Amino acid sequence: MDADLPIALVTGASRGIGAACALALARGGWRVALQYRERAAEAEAVLGRIRAAGGDGRAFSADLADPGQAAGLVAAVVEKLGPPAALVHAAGAMLEKPLAFTSPAEWSRLLELHALSAWILSKDMLRHLRKAPHGRGRIVFVGSLAGVTGLGNGAAYAATKGALHGLARSLAKECARWGATVNVIAPGYVETEMTAHHDEKRRAANLESIPLGRYAKPEEIAAQVARLCAPEAGSMTGQVMVVDGGMGLG
Ligand code: NAD
Repeated sequence: MDADLPIALVTGASRGIGAACALALARGGWRVALQYRERAAEAEAVLGRIRAAGGDGRAFSADLADPGQAAGLVAAVVEKLGPPAALVHAAGAMLEKPLAFTSPAEWSRLLELHALSAWILSKDMLRHLRKAPHGRGRIVFVGSLAGVTGLGNGAAYAATKGALHGLARSLAKECARWGATVNVIAPGYVETEMTAHHDEKRRAANLESIPLGRYAKPEEIAAQVARLCAPEAGSMTGQVMVVDGGMGLG
């Protein structure tokens, strides 16, 4: 395996959108550090697919809702694999609850998982973005259409995803001096474990509001993430790219 290939850290990489991003980046010439929380076998299976496609990487375990564990992740990647030039932060969790029934602990957990971890990981990435070849450093957060439009019965989710959008725009300004870019991919509904519990009635109601009439596939989100990480995307920064089948058009 070519040790000169740039390294990308992908969070939430054991399944769903994160796993698809890890595969897409490996195919695009990145060595991938896959973060997973607890399903080691799934992370290893993704690594197996990456290796079968001629790529390479390594899996790292961390609970990103725990700021202490988030703070150790980039250092672990540097030690075991090398300094990353890209961060794709896809780890996330949904909380479907009316605001009135959302506890402070639930609010804090989503804030830590989505926004605080993004801040910690980005902060730890700065020195590596600075040292990456000029114009090749990348941060991509997987946000959400909910962070743009809001979400009934999902205020904690929408607000903590919206925080990512503001962080990306600010970081884009700070990282521009190194030619590094910071963007957000904001999906609408995607066919993953996160939406697998949607029953027929709910799915039908959701499809009514999606002009393209379907949920996206994780690979479609990953393709946009990989495009943002490619050298050709070097002049695009501070953007929130919505990939939602037109749902946000209203
Ligand atoms: P998923 O449930 O399949 O994957 C979520 C990933 O996040 C998993 O790898 C999981 O291990 C990881 N994760 C969850 N809690 C974690 C924690 N405490 N520490 C570390 N990792 C943790 O769902 P997905 O659809 O693949 O979600 C990926 C991202 O896409 C999430 O950020 C999600 O908010 C976002 N998103 C998903 C949809 C959708 O419809 N599926 C829509 C918009 C945005």
